[in-house]
Amino acid sequence: MSKTLAVNAGSSSMKWQMYEMPEEKVLAKGLIERIGLKDSIITVKFGDQKEERVFDIPDHTEAVHVLLDDLKRLSIVEEFTEITGVGHRVVAGGELFKKSTVVTPEVLQQVKDLSALAPLHNPANAAGIEAFLNLLPDATSVVVFDTAFHTTMPEKAFRYPLPKKYYTEHAVRKYGAHGTSHEYVAHEAAKLLGKPIEETKIITAHIGNGASITAINGGKSVDTSMGFTPLAGVMMGTRTGEMDPSVFPYLIENDSELKNAQDVVDMMNKKSGLFGVSGISSDMRDIIGAKDENPDAQLAFEMYVDRIQKYIGQYLAVLNGADALVFTAGIGENSVPVRAAILEGLTWFGIEVAPDKNDWGAVGEISKASSRVKIYVIPTDEELVIARDVESLKTK
Ligand code: AMP
Repeated sequence: MSKTLAVNAGSSSMKWQMYEMPEEKVLAKGLIERIGLKDSIITVKFGDQKEERVFDIPDHTEAVHVLLDDLKRLSIVEEFTEITGVGHRVVAGGELFKKSTVVTPEVLQQVKDLSALAPLHNPANAAGIEAFLNLLPDATSVVVFDTAFHTTMPEKAFRYPLPKKYYTEHAVRKYGAHGTSHEYVAHEAAKLLGKPIEETKIITAHIGNGASITAINGGKSVDTSMGFTPLAGVMMGTRTGEMDPSVFPYLIENDSELKNAQDVVDMMNKKSGLFGVSGISSDMRDIIGAKDENPDAQLAFEMYVDRIQKYIGQYLAVLNGADALVFTAGIGENSVPVRAAILEGLTWFGIEVAPDKNDWGAVGEISKASSRVKIYVIPTDEELVIARDVESLKTK
């Protein structure tokens, strides 16, 4: 029996799923949330059991130790040698990685070298990969890149309107992110539409702590909201999304706390978005809980919705119409009020939600029968995509 662990390390979370492959049977899964914050939440589900604990986990290396200890403690594995493959989601693969790849020391170094393109993620991904390599040296380690799906974008979409040399000499271009998620939910949406994916136009809204919107034509990414780094696009939990870059030098000159460009980028990555505008939290649940009494939380909610609506509008133009709009990831899958607020502003396009279907726990279609564009809630399954890629690259 071959066990494969799919690891999806976000900036502050580590989601994992243990599969029996090639059967794709889920043996156990877990989530470590709030890494680096107080009261990290450690959840493990296996069989019909669920365990949840709360204690501080300072970084991703410690999260890997906790995860592996839990696998043994809960008898999910007897020996670590049973785990023959580990797949890691990596956010930035640049122009170097167009598909999933077995980890070698050179590949690990390249993942680190690409950190400039995903400063919140690639270091966390690399730390996770290294921790697993040390603890499970005999397993095949595979990296699955978030950017790979977007390598089909046409040049008119991925290039910035800068002088050409910044692309040719410095590789400054749009790379996108969340590719495994956009790809997976687009394929699931095509199944729901009952059409071959080659004949579909789909807009996918992956909205979680990080968020991106993608225009997918015939199963291929043709444009996406994230850019050179995952700071671009829509507003997020702690990230600004799109900004006028003239603000950068202006703030360096006028704010004593911001001394250089890196300070500004850090502030825009880590202290902005829902957190920065509300002043209370990066977590949408907290924003929704506070917004009736707190005008800043209300504004954060409205801005968040506004940016997503605008990207959906852009991509309806890019695709010249769409068969389906898909909501996925933490907020997209779970937040009825966020979906309702986004959809309320899109009725002119013939996007009509059925309010009774846009309910807690909704999965599948939430549009009215008359809606020109089908609206789906599709739980993403990046871990399954990762496990499949590991299986196809396994050498032992
Ligand atoms: P992700 O990055 O996909 O894990 O998503 C994390 C985000 O999903 C956080 O901002 C959470 O607040 C949000 N989220 C999870 N469950 C809910 C919910 N029931 N309502 C609103 N937001 C939620």
